[in-house]
Amino acid sequence: MQRRQWLGAAAGAAFAASVLPGQTRKSPKIAKLRFYRAMVGPRAWLALQVETDNGLTGLGDATHAAAEPKVCVTMARKMFAAMEGRTVFEVEGLRQVALPVIAAQNGGRDHRPAAAAFAGLEQCLWDLQGKVLGLPCSELFGGRLRSQVHNYANINRATKGEARTPEGFSQMAQRGLDAGFDAFKMASFDHLKPNDPDHERFADGTQLGIDCIAAVRQTIGPDRDLLVDGHSKFSREQAIEVALRLEPQKLFWFEEATPGIPNLAALNAVARMPTAGGESLFGVGEFLPYIAGKAVDIVMPDMKFCGGMLELKKIAAMAEAAGMACSPHGPASPIGNMAAAQVCATLPNFQILEFAYGEVPWRGECVTPEEPIGKGGMLEVLDRPGIGYELNGKYWEAYG
Ligand SMILES: [Mg+2]
Repeated sequence: MQRRQWLGAAAGAAFAASVLPGQTRKSPKIAKLRFYRAMVGPRAWLALQVETDNGLTGLGDATHAAAEPKVCVTMARKMFAAMEGRTVFEVEGLRQVALPVIAAQNGGRDHRPAAAAFAGLEQCLWDLQGKVLGLPCSELFGGRLRSQVHNYANINRATKGEARTPEGFSQMAQRGLDAGFDAFKMASFDHLKPNDPDHERFADGTQLGIDCIAAVRQTIGPDRDLLVDGHSKFSREQAIEVALRLEPQKLFWFEEATPGIPNLAALNAVARMPTAGGESLFGVGEFLPYIAGKAVDIVMPDMKFCGGMLELKKIAAMAEAAGMACSPHGPASPIGNMAAAQVCATLPNFQILEFAYGEVPWRGECVTPEEPIGKGGMLEVLDRPGIGYELNGKYWEAYG
């Protein structure tokens, strides 16, 4: 038998074993879509729920920080209409439906509601697949390399208004420490205006941001991890100078200090600490030049904006090939955080995951089972079918 014939015969035998003549595959079909919102201060968490024709439900997180996520709902309805009646296994099919809708949003930040809608629906399909097969999503993404995922506490949103001082950031870091976290992220340059013509104001503001970082380092001690996000406030030259001034703080990473691949790559070439970024990029297409251009050491796809769980896996694989680590971005609800964790559990180049610390006191209870995050910011990757959560109705209202 020729090799090609043998391969064909073997594939046919495998197919025959799973689907006998006269049988059809029994894959649940996508039937209904619902939206649920939970208010988190000035922002909202948006959860999507897809129901199948046999009554299974799958959850997904489409949070993109807007209080009224109406655009996201409209986008999700549009994508859902093209998927109704198709099976829960057609993730690549959903991607084909979603790509032109997202591309029509003119790129940049405008793509976020559409990308979040896609990611929310995509998570619903993975959650449903896990429920159909009785497996946690990590088993569908290659199997676990770890059963817990290390999270850092992003204390930036929880540190509000007048508390954005060295003392205020320190107090919030102390709260995170008391809650058991051992890694912290802050963005203490948020008050800066890029290209501020008032040079003195910009210099004073930069010093204040550095003072806040030094104060948090003092609070958490030398052995815990400190991550700083520059939110692209600096020019290339300013970013390089600030990186130099931050060297004594022994940062775990310096994130998106300056906008654009050429500026980031120039910073990355000289910074003595690791650099990280990529949270707003969509898909393998946008990550390719970012990775090839050596913009950063650590890529940070945000599952909501990068194209979902499968795209996160693909992007992480590209980073792996380039010798880069993958640390997903994601100030999400517990659903989005766990969906990312299900994928992160399978990544050989996974480093650390984002956890939006201190946004609301009821965070852990808004899902069942309760969010299993413990000492050292270690999140237990749920060993239940799918992503692993159901909504606790006490905290979510029907929306849209
Ligand atoms: Mg960031």
